[in-house]
Amino acid sequence: MIYADNAATTKLSETALKAMTPYLTDVFYNPSSLYSASQKAKEALEDARARVARCINAAQSEIIFTSGGSEADNQALLSAAAAGKKNGKNHIISTPIEHHAVLHTLKKLEGDGFEITYLPIGEDGVIKAEDVRAAIKEKTCLVTVMYANNEIGTIQPIKEIGKICKEKNVPFHTDAVQAVGHLHIDVQAENIDMLSASAHKFHGPKGVGFLYVKKGIRTVNLIEGGAQERGRRAGTENLAGIAGMTAALEEAAANMDADSAKMKAVRDKIIDGLSKIPHSALNGDAEKRLPGNVNFCFEGIEGESLLLLLDDKGICASSGSACTSGSLDPSHVLLAIGRVHDVAHGSLRLSIGEDTTQEQADHIITAVTDVVARLRGLSPVWRDLCEGKRQHII
Ligand SMILES: *Cc1c(COP(=O)(O)O)cnc(C)c1O
Repeated sequence: MIYADNAATTKLSETALKAMTPYLTDVFYNPSSLYSASQKAKEALEDARARVARCINAAQSEIIFTSGGSEADNQALLSAAAAGKKNGKNHIISTPIEHHAVLHTLKKLEGDGFEITYLPIGEDGVIKAEDVRAAIKEKTCLVTVMYANNEIGTIQPIKEIGKICKEKNVPFHTDAVQAVGHLHIDVQAENIDMLSASAHKFHGPKGVGFLYVKKGIRTVNLIEGGAQERGRRAGTENLAGIAGMTAALEEAAANMDADSAKMKAVRDKIIDGLSKIPHSALNGDAEKRLPGNVNFCFEGIEGESLLLLLDDKGICASSGSACTSGSLDPSHVLLAIGRVHDVAHGSLRLSIGEDTTQEQADHIITAVTDVVARLRGLSPVWRDLCEGKRQHII
């Protein structure tokens, strides 16, 4: 089997699993207890916090452990909104290609009287930092722009946006769930005020993540209860998960440059191979993209059929088309970068991993080429295109 859906989730690394075991067995204590045995748990928790902080150049006290990326995104946005409301500010700037954890929270805030500006996005899937400057108003209380996109892999100009937000004194949050563990991140150099991350996107366990919140920024609690996380997130800590995340993050950081170079070579081989399929198009900029992301549209086919046939050939992939998730609308990301509905429906995301080989890339190219040809052979839309009854779009 070839697993090419690492943007959806990654396999737990051996190192992470090993780091988790003690906290599921011998060191099972509650970090908040007062007897000496539990001190080991408390120390492990704070050690993990310091180590996670170091990986993004933050301070230990600036890390809040959460249940994952969605929770971190929710807490960041709702915190900035609450602070804005207090100061009479109700304008938020974002992009149309954010993850639903951000987009749905923004929708909720819109219902609460917030005005949201969605920045224009080009065909390349990258926003322009200067558009952020132009959108900032007196009433802006937050800019939230994802670091890297989960569907098309495009990387946004985070440092430039951070600089502008700092100049304008507007808090800047980034959903960095796809970037942490894959790209070098320095929250100080990039002027990031809040950042969301999730362990299962970098070979850590599911159900754990963190929110970086720069010192001085107030948060609101999504979960009330005990005084864990300095009173910012209640609930007995998921210590095993946190230990696994920390080990996975350090491992990813240590291997980042080598892994990235290797993955880019495999990625570009697949992109070259799939580009040879007639009437296909790469989605998102070829350069400003995650090392593991390949995303294509193929005219005249349905993404879901493509996925099923690839599954038969032992390839796990994903489609930007949301039909699989019970809705007929194609991906909001593909529509935002200007793909028309028909074309957006025929999309394929392959998110390769550190261990994807050149041989597997060859297998993927052959399999996708075959399957696309087979589906086109059965497609009335494709026949119309070939007979000139419809115009090719790509
Ligand atoms: C996966 C993902 C999330 C959600 O993270 P969970 O830990 O699964 O809640 C948020 N944003 C992006 C960009 C993601 O890829």
